[in-house]
Amino acid sequence: MRLVFMGPPGAGKGTQAKRLAAAYGLRHISTGDLIRAAIQNETPLGQKAKPYLEAGQLVPDELVWELARAALAERHYDHFVLDGFPRTVQQAEWLDELLRQVGRPLQVVLNLIVPDELIIKRLSRRRVHKITGENYHLDFNPPPPDVDPSLIIQRPDDRPEAIRQRLEVYRATHEPLEQYYRACGLLVDVDGVGSMDEVSARIQAVLKAQGVLTA
Ligand code: AMP
Repeated sequence: MRLVFMGPPGAGKGTQAKRLAAAYGLRHISTGDLIRAAIQNETPLGQKAKPYLEAGQLVPDELVWELARAALAERHYDHFVLDGFPRTVQQAEWLDELLRQVGRPLQVVLNLIVPDELIIKRLSRRRVHKITGENYHLDFNPPPPDVDPSLIIQRPDDRPEAIRQRLEVYRATHEPLEQYYRACGLLVDVDGVGSMDEVSARIQAVLKAQGVLTA
């Protein structure tokens, strides 16, 4: 299975991509995770990527391509779900060319759709533990009573105004990418509103309808 997962921040994209990977033995390739690991391990690539990530900008293509190529090669350019890559049309063209060379083209690009108002509601209720980095949600996954409430904070970029800004950036950069994959006939919209199980079921239905899943 060769999939790309797209969706705005807070759409549940990472969660669904991980579920899909676990269910079908795919490698979940999140370029954001790979970049953060490179920074953590202080590799030369990580050191180059760090200022971009910290400024909330896109990391230069050559760095992301190096990470993506290595991750894709590990499973012989098959059995993967990409998450957070490609982020630009140029990256999409690079991926197409790479997969064309090995004769394993993409099969489906899943486009998770969640209305802005719901994303703002979801992300603005998110809280994080200042020290452990653990994520909570005030309604669905509240911090346990034994956790010191003064350590539970809201990320500055999770405030409604900042979320709106992040969504605008997402729309501006993803619109051309969506058009690109729509024109290739690969893009399939998936309704991202509902419980995690409901959304997973919709994704499975799409993969069956596209002939990617036979079971
Ligand atoms: P994410 O975890 O997907 O939200 O990514 C976190 C950060 O990693 C982004 O803000 C970018 O700085 C960088 N990043 C992740 N994926 C890419 C990509 N495909 N192209 C460029 N930068 C990326």
